[in-house]
Amino acid sequence: MTKKSPSSSEPAPADSPAYEVRRSEIHGNGVFARRLIEAGECIVEYTGERITSDESAIRAEKSGGPVNHTFFFSLADGNVIDGGSGGNDARFINHACEPNCEAYEEDGKVFIYALYEIAQGEELNYNYALIYEERHTAAVKKMFECRCGAPSCTGSMLAPKKRASRKKK
Ligand SMILES: [Zn+2]
Repeated sequence: MTKKSPSSSEPAPADSPAYEVRRSEIHGNGVFARRLIEAGECIVEYTGERITSDESAIRAEKSGGPVNHTFFFSLADGNVIDGGSGGNDARFINHACEPNCEAYEEDGKVFIYALYEIAQGEELNYNYALIYEERHTAAVKKMFECRCGAPSCTGSMLAPKKRASRKKK
């Protein structure tokens, strides 16, 4: 399934950065493999200013709404990494419903790993599964619309809202 287009450029050397930022057809900027990336390879750390979730809400409000949440990475301890402030290229990795990468939190740091072997030129993505506490109104849904095109695309970057503890038997 690794079909090389004749126009594809030479792969980048293995010791150079595995990725580059370019315009994406999915959404704004995207991050693309510059060379073959091995399954399980740690590609990049998701860096940015570490803030409280209250501060992230204030920043989202200031920037004109929740759209800024796509640069926020929520940590297990409730704090947030704001990739929009002092962040690196990892913030440009787009969401997808059938992603080729996965974000892992380790000791309060977040790293993006390859789930599969990724061919040179392929766009990197992971499932944001954003938690949005407020009502998922039509406007909010529109803002977090997913157009990744995967057969299983849920149409949204948002994690489904948890139902009030209704147990399955
Ligand atoms: Zn999708």
